[in-house]
Amino acid sequence: MRVFNFSAGPAALPEEVLRQAADEMLDWHGSGMSVMEMSHRGREFMSIHEEALLDLRELLKVPASHRILFLQGGGLGENAIVPMNMLGSHTTADFVVTGSWSQKTLKEAAKYCTPHMAATGETAAGFTRSPARAEWHLSDNPAYVHLCTNETIHGVETFEIPDLGDIPLVADVSSHVLSRPLDVAKFGVLYGGAQKNIGMAGMTIVIVREDLLDRALPICPSAFEWRTVAENNSMYNTPPTYAIYIAGLVFKWLKRQGGLEAIEARNLEKAKLLYETIDTSDFYINKVERAARSRMNVPFFLADESRNEDFLAGAKARGLMQLKGHKSVGGMRASIYNAVPLEGVKALVEYMKEFEQSRA
Ligand code: PMP
Repeated sequence: MRVFNFSAGPAALPEEVLRQAADEMLDWHGSGMSVMEMSHRGREFMSIHEEALLDLRELLKVPASHRILFLQGGGLGENAIVPMNMLGSHTTADFVVTGSWSQKTLKEAAKYCTPHMAATGETAAGFTRSPARAEWHLSDNPAYVHLCTNETIHGVETFEIPDLGDIPLVADVSSHVLSRPLDVAKFGVLYGGAQKNIGMAGMTIVIVREDLLDRALPICPSAFEWRTVAENNSMYNTPPTYAIYIAGLVFKWLKRQGGLEAIEARNLEKAKLLYETIDTSDFYINKVERAARSRMNVPFFLADESRNEDFLAGAKARGLMQLKGHKSVGGMRASIYNAVPLEGVKALVEYMKEFEQSRA
């Protein structure tokens, strides 16, 4: 029996995708081979790769001005790869810090430049908000401004994407990409690890505006130099082939769901149900400002934290798994990515209400 999986990542995948991958495991489309066994330069895999690229472009409405790259190295890898590709002759880049992930991004960038913190969402209650553009204090000549549009640990999502004119906006979209439409044209670069809404761990997507491909530092490894990767259609070195295949299946699944508008409507319904349950009770607490509450990662605390273990054990007994909050903040966290069905969230809120009543 499959459980309801609220993991922050690697995370729940659509069951249909897993079944299809299982069916095709030994023999992909009559090739007599598993996708894992195919040459990345062979006709079969090239067709899988091309289709995944086209489907992602269609789903996210990626404009012709932007290239899509499939890389390795994950979100944290990009914290080094982005400055190495984007600094050019600049000596600084600006960072909007809204949680642990963007904090890490700023720290890593310090290996390559003098980073400037343009704004922070940290308050006395921790990271609870996303500062508006009017609060950003940009430096004189930053190579780019970096923003993490969904902070997976703190549950802070940014919905207003400002226009920065000539300064490229770089965003870590790891934990909410494909959860709703996004205006890609507003960004110079978007990047994210695949292990939440895209597919399995091991693959990173980078969507970069063509004119930004000429800023790499000489120290940038060739396998991570976006120009080189783009010119070789993500085949400069062996790409994460099986992860690309799984992502392709997820993109097809998303198209069958009706695309990003349809998935957004479902995600809104799931998030609303969970936040309402938290807000209408004194037993559960979420500290994030309403306007910045993530639709993907919902951290919450029990008012009486001595009940945490009890709560998690009861959840597990019902097949509600991986609800423990990140160790740096404690409490609980329900990640309700695209592949977590409404029934899963309903089962969770039912359990939360019962747990509250039984302990009142
Ligand atoms: N950025 C965000 C927003 C994340 O959620 C994560 C992982 N949870 C990372 C970066 C780090 O990604 P990776 O582990 O793939 O390096």
